Amino acid sequence: MLVGGVGGARFLLGLKAALGLGEHGTAAHDITAVVNTGDDIWLHGVRICPDLDTCMYTLGGGIDTERGWGRAGETWVVKAELARYGADPEWFGLGDLDLATHLVRTRMLQVGYPLSAVTAALCDRWRPGVRLLPATDDRCETHVVVADEQGRRSMHFQEWWIRHRAQLPAIEFVPVGADTAEPAAGVLDAIAEADAVLLAPSNPVVSIGSVLAVPGIRPALRNASARVIGLSPIVGGRAVRGMADACLAAIGVPCEAGAVAAHYGARRAGGILDGWLLHTGDQATVPGIEVRAIPLLMTDVAATAAMARAALELALPQ
Ligand code: GDP
Ligand code: CA
Repeated sequence: MLVGGVGGARFLLGLKAALGLGEHGTAAHDITAVVNTGDDIWLHGVRICPDLDTCMYTLGGGIDTERGWGRAGETWVVKAELARYGADPEWFGLGDLDLATHLVRTRMLQVGYPLSAVTAALCDRWRPGVRLLPATDDRCETHVVVADEQGRRSMHFQEWWIRHRAQLPAIEFVPVGADTAEPAAGVLDAIAEADAVLLAPSNPVVSIGSVLAVPGIRPALRNASARVIGLSPIVGGRAVRGMADACLAAIGVPCEAGAVAAHYGARRAGGILDGWLLHTGDQATVPGIEVRAIPLLMTDVAATAAMARAALELALPQ
């Protein structure tokens, strides 16, 4: 699986259920999730990996299910104290329970462990039942170039997404560090050895797009022996949750399931997809991409598991 945060994590819950996986997986099946790290950021001296943590907490039973991110039962004492010091940035939701994760991660990074090893160590506690791999161990963060009355400038993705609610007109997304980044240990092998490769219904631009920005991952998908199947995050011309519409607008892709499939492209025409699942009633015609329409709303684990089964059916030769 290639995944982002909330959409990716929810889909992984359904895929686990579809394969009958518990917290340790089974001998018959295992899932590797290559998780977006373009959202990652240093704040207040700690390394924060929002999408990895969303996957880890969701699959490990620690997520705040209402919010979709962060820890259940979270408190915000540290955030309030930082604000009293006027310590920037005040817009980032840094919870107390969550902070412990970032402290452990930072400490391990600072003594030299790569992010993939740190993530594995954090997962020893959370037991997500899925192997979570960062897309890269290198620093490769998404920046957003915006233009408004203050002129043209660029900022970290989190500032654009959280502080400005993706409302500042974006011109471009730049993966800063991509020129030297490499896929994390295990990523290329997982893609090469997979029986099926699925793209979660995650944000196509700043989640899946940021994974694909890591050099080597797109060619690995193109050369995979497995079929590559994507699920549309766009239903009825709208992002089901979040602000993917603003991201698509910035790269000139219409907010439609078919347009996203065309953006990923057919593998036989230089793109990455063999198949595309979209929501009942939506349409796509892209030569080289096999399209199926099914209900694509992750209302509960059973509905999401049905989506996962449909994706596997499309992926696996009968
Ligand atoms: P983020 O990193 O937390 O923003 O999460 P992702 O990128 O993994 O997922 C966000 C995307 O998930 C959004 O573009 C949503 O449109 C999509 N999404 C959320 N819920 C659903 C759902 O129930 N069905 C589908 N098809 N897409 C969904
Ligand atoms: Ca994200």
